[in-house]
Amino acid sequence: MPRTESDVRWVDEPRLGFWEQLYIPAMLDGLKTTIGHIFRPQVRTEQYPEQEPKLPGNYRGVHRLNRDEEGRVKCVACYMCATACPAHCIDIVAAPAPTEWQKDGREKYPETFVIDELRCIYCGMCEEACPVDAIELTTLYDLTGLSREQMVFDKEKLLSVFDQTTKAGTDPVRTRSGRLSVASETPPG
Ligand code: SF4
Ligand code: SF4
Repeated sequence: MPRTESDVRWVDEPRLGFWEQLYIPAMLDGLKTTIGHIFRPQVRTEQYPEQEPKLPGNYRGVHRLNRDEEGRVKCVACYMCATACPAHCIDIVAAPAPTEWQKDGREKYPETFVIDELRCIYCGMCEEACPVDAIELTTLYDLTGLSREQMVFDKEKLLSVFDQTTKAGTDPVRTRSGRLSVASETPPG
């Protein structure tokens, strides 16, 4: 989604008081933290990227768009995720489903489906809102790009994350019969 001038919110920098301008309290605070770590036995630094981080089971990383059993995008373009998204970073254009899909009861599908991964706050609301488990947040955390445009994921990219994570086995397919995620806790139905 391209940004316009009206999307920018300007904020005033807070004014520093006398003590804050001296920086001495901040330095003492920093020294206190440093000295505290010297006497703490545990090593808390993870040597990333040599050392892979231990992610919690409910970690919310890069999105994926799931495929159905036929390999088609599972999304039915209901806009529930985009409506629930507090960051307004999901942009969907719905279209009538192809004729052969309509035999399976599919009325619509997303002609385009775009998520601005830089604007996202990874809250998981989209995953919770989806009635057909079509969108999920995966455990992929090393999200990088060389430009803002590269971080705006389109449908093909989001489907490729599904392919990548299912092939690697890093993220189980979180369907209603699966074990992980809020959606999968719903009994089969
Ligand atoms: S994780 Fe939250 S912020 Fe990100 S796309 Fe989903 S609903 Fe929006
Ligand atoms: S991902 Fe799910 S909630 Fe979002 S439009 Fe598609 S079917 Fe609806």
